[in-house]
Amino acid sequence: MREYKIAVIPGDGIGNEVMDEGIKVLNLFAELKGDIKFTYEYFPWGCEYYLKTGKMMDDNGLDILKGFDSILLGAVGYPTVPDHISLHGLLIKIRQGFNQCVNLRPIKLLPGAPCPLKDKAPEDIDFVVIRENVEGEYSGVGGIRFADKPEEIAIQTSVFTRKNTEKVMKYAYDLAEKRNKKKKLTSTTKSNALNYSMVFWDKVFGEIGKQYPEVETESIHVDAISMFFIQKPQNYDVVVASNLFGDIITDLGAALQGGLGFAASGNLNIEKEFPSMFEPVHGSAPDIAGKGLANPIAMIWTAKMMLDDLLEDPKAEEIINAITDVLVEGKSLTPDLGGKATTQQVGDAICHKLKARL
Ligand code: ATP
Ligand code: MG
Repeated sequence: MREYKIAVIPGDGIGNEVMDEGIKVLNLFAELKGDIKFTYEYFPWGCEYYLKTGKMMDDNGLDILKGFDSILLGAVGYPTVPDHISLHGLLIKIRQGFNQCVNLRPIKLLPGAPCPLKDKAPEDIDFVVIRENVEGEYSGVGGIRFADKPEEIAIQTSVFTRKNTEKVMKYAYDLAEKRNKKKKLTSTTKSNALNYSMVFWDKVFGEIGKQYPEVETESIHVDAISMFFIQKPQNYDVVVASNLFGDIITDLGAALQGGLGFAASGNLNIEKEFPSMFEPVHGSAPDIAGKGLANPIAMIWTAKMMLDDLLEDPKAEEIINAITDVLVEGKSLTPDLGGKATTQQVGDAICHKLKARL
């Protein structure tokens, strides 16, 4: 029996509700597999914790989390807590503190999920975006000069280190090689306008590519790729992008796969020196929180990504198939998908299908 210790941060709002469903599916998977076990420790961190204690997480939070095999996060956010506090006090602290330099975002349209492009079928939308997750445009370097004067200047500097850029590129090439789709890696750039950072990005993309002769490569400007995601999403297999560009194009990707209810992500420490963190892309959605209206699919998909990272067991794919079964059947869907089922009922329906498959 192999045991995995998971740190669970349900967070705020619907984070709590969807987390229960993610854990339910993980436990069922472990039970059906028979030779693994998950143990969970819950941490009450997030915006509600901040309102009580003045802190998003405990000061020794990273020290505590270090001892776990993985971290599962629901969502953080609260209407009266500014986004930069929730982001920097918890998410960015963990991402940067644990050097989770890759943000992994599968963009896959499941049969039965609502795609805004009426001429596209599920097989047309199946790619992965690798977003650089710790530096680039979000490095936090810069400042304000001549504050509140007519000559005021705001400066925001992008920082791309060779070490980190190479690491992210290598991860992306490796994935393109092993994913077994088109063996194609697309780099998102803007080197026509960003003459230092993106010219460097392109250079490293080319250099690392020499080690992967089997991977077809292309480099596309971020504006153009935004258009092509809509016009010909079937062209993509693995896409690598900087922090800012990746942030933007993955939201576009979320729309292609049916919306926030389907968007799952992983923040990976690829050296495995520290735990990785898995979280659905959506926020705490205060408008629907506490009512059982949240779609748990993104969270369940996120839990499946955590399984992939921990076990590399092809059986985990049955979780995605079980989600598809529920979508295609169309009987247990949350209101965002036009149904009347509760968060819990959707989780139960997915478990029921998973049992039949494993
Ligand atoms: P936060 O401040 O935590 O980012 P938010 O108000 O920005 O929260 P998001 O979760 O980012 O909310 O999503 C925006 C809207 O999309 C929500 O208000 C909600 O109506 C809808 N939404 C998001 N996630 C889900 C979900 N899992 N199921 C159903 N609807 C969702
Ligand atoms: Mg938000």
